[in-house]
Amino acid sequence: MNKMEIPKELIEKLKSAKSILFFTGAGISAESGIDTFRGKGGLWNKMSAQELASFDGFMKNPNLVWEWYQYRRKNVRETEPNAGHKTIAEFEKYFNDVTVVTQNVDNLHKRAGSTNILELHGNIERNFCLDCKTFYDVEKFIEAHEVPKCEKCGGMIRPDVVWFGEMLPQGVFAEAERKAIESDVCFIVGTSAVVYPAAYIPISAKEAGATLVEINIEPTNISHQVDFSIIGKSGEVLPQIFEMLEL
Ligand code: NAD
Ligand code: ZN
Repeated sequence: MNKMEIPKELIEKLKSAKSILFFTGAGISAESGIDTFRGKGGLWNKMSAQELASFDGFMKNPNLVWEWYQYRRKNVRETEPNAGHKTIAEFEKYFNDVTVVTQNVDNLHKRAGSTNILELHGNIERNFCLDCKTFYDVEKFIEAHEVPKCEKCGGMIRPDVVWFGEMLPQGVFAEAERKAIESDVCFIVGTSAVVYPAAYIPISAKEAGATLVEINIEPTNISHQVDFSIIGKSGEVLPQIFEMLEL
């Protein structure tokens, strides 16, 4: 990709931005080797979502769902943040107000060094007890091939991720909306923007006057609403934008 494809107006906009929000999805982690859900090679093409990522599915077949998450955790542990995650973390060093609102559960933004992260769909590297809500770090049950029992109450342990049909974590979504409304520039990176209510975040930003910038390898549902649509891999486009800022 050549440098000319990144609009100068975008760079000017960023230079004067006080508050920047990155709304990210599975695509930002694709270059780290983590499968996306939709699109080519997407996980949902291979397995049934309702079977694996819903509370009913878990209750029907807890050990199968647990094993699937253990498999995905292993996959996540073996990967590293890529240039996209790292560039977003760099922004924090040069701008006062940078927030990452992510739909990902892979913890890669944190591992890349971002500190201001709102996880809309939870974090695969955490578990909690269905009954007493005690949280457990992923290390605790790392070797378990079946659903573990809570040490305090004997309840079933589940991954701390938001399943289909479940509510988003209380407070996190509200905070994300607040930051969206405050933002001057809102990046939409590697997300098909079809999962609600998460997809309201960039819409709220736009309604409040933010400049929307989409980075994706293909056009999405939201492309026609953005100010700048940049087609390319986030691990290549984000570093280029950052370089053009000459910070
Ligand atoms: P999605 O799978 O629906 O869409 C991924 C998007 O990323 C697509 O639009 C695709 O074109 C784009 N993409 C692929 N490679 C890219 C690249 N290198 N650079 C830029 N864009 C690229 O993902 P979603 O919108 O995040 O929604 C799916 C749900 O799946 C979310 O709720 C999320 O919790 C979950 N999920 C998370 C992970 C993860 O944590 N890494 C992985 C899969 C799914
Ligand atoms: Zn318990």
